[in-house]
Amino acid sequence: MQRLAEACERIAGTTKKLEKTAIVAEYLKSRTPGEAAVSAVFLSGRAFPLWEETTLQVGGALLWRIVAEVSGKSEAELTATYRRHGDLGAVAGEVVPTTGRGLNVVEVQERFRQMAGARGPAAKGVIVRELLSLSAPLEAKYLVKIMTGDLRIGLKESLVEEATAKAYGATLSEVQRANMLLGDIGETLKLALAGKLSEVKMRLFHPLGFMLASPAESAEEALSYFEEAAVEDKYDGIRAQAHCAGGDVRIFSRTRDDITESFPELPGVLAGLPEDVILDGEIVAWSYLAAESNEPGRALPFSALQQRLGRKKVSDEMMRKVPVAYLAFDLLYARGELLLDRPWRERAQILDQLLSASKVPVMKRSPSAQGRLTFEDGEQVTNAKVIRAPVFRASSALELDALFEAAQARGNEGLMIKDIASAYAPGRRGKSWLKLKRELATLDVVVTAVEYGHGKRIGVLSDYTFGVRDGEQLVNIGKAYSGLTDAEIAEMTKWFLEHTVEDQGFRLVVEPKIVLEVAFNNMMRSERHNSGFALRFPRIVRIRHDKLAEEADTIERVREIYEAQKN
Ligand code: AMP
Repeated sequence: MQRLAEACERIAGTTKKLEKTAIVAEYLKSRTPGEAAVSAVFLSGRAFPLWEETTLQVGGALLWRIVAEVSGKSEAELTATYRRHGDLGAVAGEVVPTTGRGLNVVEVQERFRQMAGARGPAAKGVIVRELLSLSAPLEAKYLVKIMTGDLRIGLKESLVEEATAKAYGATLSEVQRANMLLGDIGETLKLALAGKLSEVKMRLFHPLGFMLASPAESAEEALSYFEEAAVEDKYDGIRAQAHCAGGDVRIFSRTRDDITESFPELPGVLAGLPEDVILDGEIVAWSYLAAESNEPGRALPFSALQQRLGRKKVSDEMMRKVPVAYLAFDLLYARGELLLDRPWRERAQILDQLLSASKVPVMKRSPSAQGRLTFEDGEQVTNAKVIRAPVFRASSALELDALFEAAQARGNEGLMIKDIASAYAPGRRGKSWLKLKRELATLDVVVTAVEYGHGKRIGVLSDYTFGVRDGEQLVNIGKAYSGLTDAEIAEMTKWFLEHTVEDQGFRLVVEPKIVLEVAFNNMMRSERHNSGFALRFPRIVRIRHDKLAEEADTIERVREIYEAQKN
């Protein structure tokens, strides 16, 4: 672990990517295969390989407490050190005693496994304490960083892939492909070492990375990136990759969690597909319209789906109350072949064929009624669980605007605009998929507490918790990080430091005087904040120097927005 930590220090010490990969490659080669494989995972900022979906579940507060215990430092000393670094790992590196015997990376991963398996903070804490007592200071620094899931040495997994290729004389594309398919950079490394990268086969039931979209500000911008655009509604649900093979079905979320159990109505339908496939799509709460109407129904906002989440068992009543549908919009594997490299146009075509062969209802726009959707075969489908997401075409901003209006009229968030010539790029946020959406509303909120930022925001107060007025008091509704310029953050930091009411170490409670305008995508009911609501993806639009806290928005306004969104 000492050698790994030293390599990390050197990696952090240079901004040049080539140098970083050279350091990683040289380090990996100097280790045994087992150590190198574990190190590759750690260097990717993870405790475990991606596909395992195992997390340590040790929070910052627990780590903070144990660093304090092991070092014997007072809260004030620790807070002062934290202020200087803004990173708990760096704090550990400074305060952990030099008496530890040192650790081997393989041993560290074993202890991480015990930690992941241990239930509750007390049991996990015992293992963290043991690890930190055994480690030398520099080791502790990187142990804590790995445990918090953020190395902050400017090393992305893609650079570890490059280093692996370099270390073992493989091509980068071979390494990338194997890592994408396996979701395990350590395993990939072992195969590279054995010269067996080309033998990697698609592993069904191991989630692949999801292709992501970049935001577009306007219809014009959205159409400026590529020749021909396919357009779909942007549904507000949960992204879901469905693996279906031999009658078995597993559904994975964007965090690669297996969420099959949460949607018991879907596997049965998906298992009926005529061949082994991996589908990409969105699970949404779905409102089925009356049988006599030929309309297919529509997706409901995320807040409706939310009632079904986070439950171990889904009751029949819940399934009746909040029905869901899987809107399939892409196909990653079919006909025994991985389709990622095929253009969207071909994947979509195969998806259409596959779904129509298996009688999955396909929606289309009726030529007569602008924007209205019907099922293609004219059948009345009142209970479709898997639906092909309808695809439209647009070649001008005007057409795109019309589709946008129609999508919003159907209650969807906006549009997804996809380059029909593009390959499926797992885990990448590129310009081949664009999202066009309009913000729901903005709220004027009051900052109630602030925290120091991370990375380049180490020494400044950049994370703001904010609330709205509820009678005489303020109730919190969200937390936002971004949106302000560095100069504004510096100005705010100075103000907050001068107006701190209570210093809680990590967090400062401040005088509730600063009003911010925040935009957000959605509003949810939530226990996280004492208002009972939470904002989804809040962003600071501007500081409202012109407003007093007494003029900020109220909880009544929040309820209004919530109700309007529900309808
Ligand atoms: P965002 O979460 O705002 O970055 O938007 C990307 C997300 O939109 C994806 O991860 C999907 O969950 C969701 N989405 C909704 N409809 C579609 C669609 N038709 N195609 C792709 N993604 C979609």
